[in-house]
Amino acid sequence: MTIDFHTHVFPDAVAAHAIPALEAQGNVKAALNGTVQDLLQSMDRHHISQSVVCSIATQPKQFQPILDWSRSVASERIIPLPSLHPESTSILDELQTIHDHGFPGIKLHPYYQSFYMDEERLLPIFKKSSELGLFIVMHCGYDIGFPREERANPQQIKQLIRAVPSLKLVASHLGAWQQWDEVVQHLIGEDIYLDLAFVLDFLPTEQAVAMITTHPGDRILFGSDSPWADQGEAVQQVRDLHLDPNLTERILHTNGKELLTSQKL
Ligand SMILES: [Zn+2]
Repeated sequence: MTIDFHTHVFPDAVAAHAIPALEAQGNVKAALNGTVQDLLQSMDRHHISQSVVCSIATQPKQFQPILDWSRSVASERIIPLPSLHPESTSILDELQTIHDHGFPGIKLHPYYQSFYMDEERLLPIFKKSSELGLFIVMHCGYDIGFPREERANPQQIKQLIRAVPSLKLVASHLGAWQQWDEVVQHLIGEDIYLDLAFVLDFLPTEQAVAMITTHPGDRILFGSDSPWADQGEAVQQVRDLHLDPNLTERILHTNGKELLTSQKL
């Protein structure tokens, strides 16, 4: 059974307008309708036991509704990551609350949340997350829906892992979307998780294999970025890399399981 470490769903009422808006913004097509129910059906079709759901607070006031919704959809199979906004004035309390409710991590996105990863003001968030044992799934690299800016590039990511080495950081999109040469230069081999979300359609197979096989084998996570990719096709793309079967199993299941269970307190 597979664990999908990078998916997006929305409250039912939000999904109906969020999906078309995001499709237009990124010029992409959603494979699902953005609801929890549709994701669960996709998971059934493609033998996916658990999906990690990444929410993004685009304003500080969204902390509470996202937390409430995350609590309402959390289950054995759906692992929601709440979110908070760097401009919140009570961000450390919010991290504590997320932890107290038993969530294993949070999601941050530098484009939707208007920050640069190397800003001084973020350090307390990273330090507190590390103290609480919360992992952070961070959108890294460019984003298909925005003009390109250096918001979370491999050098900035490396600076963070040097500053807070105990932080469990998942650098999404194989370290930095569409900045993979710099990932090779700065991040491959470091103690950092990389997920494969929205990568294998964009990166030549040989380069993907070279990056994956030179990074620590317990630090690569399968993620589909559903609904922005079909979960079944994303699994097949990983299988089609023809990695060592043990490594494939680690990527599709074991690494995600270990990261999720290491958080359980
Ligand atoms: Zn995503």
